[in-house]
Amino acid sequence: MKRLLPILPLTLLLAACENQTSTPLTSVTVPHNPSTPTSTEPATMPEKIEKTAAEWKSTLTPQQFLVLRQKHTERAFTGEYDEKFDHGTYACAACGAELFTSETKFNSGCGWPAFYAAKAGNTVKLTREPAPDTRTEVTCARCDSHLGHIFDDAPQTPTGQRYCINSVSLKFIPAAATPKK
Ligand SMILES: [Zn+2]
Repeated sequence: MKRLLPILPLTLLLAACENQTSTPLTSVTVPHNPSTPTSTEPATMPEKIEKTAAEWKSTLTPQQFLVLRQKHTERAFTGEYDEKFDHGTYACAACGAELFTSETKFNSGCGWPAFYAAKAGNTVKLTREPAPDTRTEVTCARCDSHLGHIFDDAPQTPTGQRYCINSVSLKFIPAAATPKK
């Protein structure tokens, strides 16, 4: 009777192992589902963020709320990032989505931060404003916050375009703070 005792737990252990090894075999036979999202989707495509005006008001400063949510424009030459050219990334001040990088920032002399391209991926949305304005508005694709406007008046840049963006709509993340991949 005494000799049987050590054998019993060993048998149970073996049975447990068998169960474990059979699990992956079952999952391998599951047919591939073609509707499963693949890695070809842009990793930068963010999930939409929707908040009420009251919710935005509680998380943004009064000036941020006016510009980001009510499409106001900060006064020229007053923004924090107009003449900043440090290496880093510019994120949406409302939702944190990364929108621009310092690589495409240039000194346009217009009084607002200027970029000749947005960060790769569907980070910003362009919307033609109705006449008589006919400017093209730039908004954050993730939270629809107003960022500024885009103009085709920068022939000195690789794209010829100027994203004229309010500093208050942006949050600068220094390159040193960005984890290297
Ligand atoms: Zn945003």
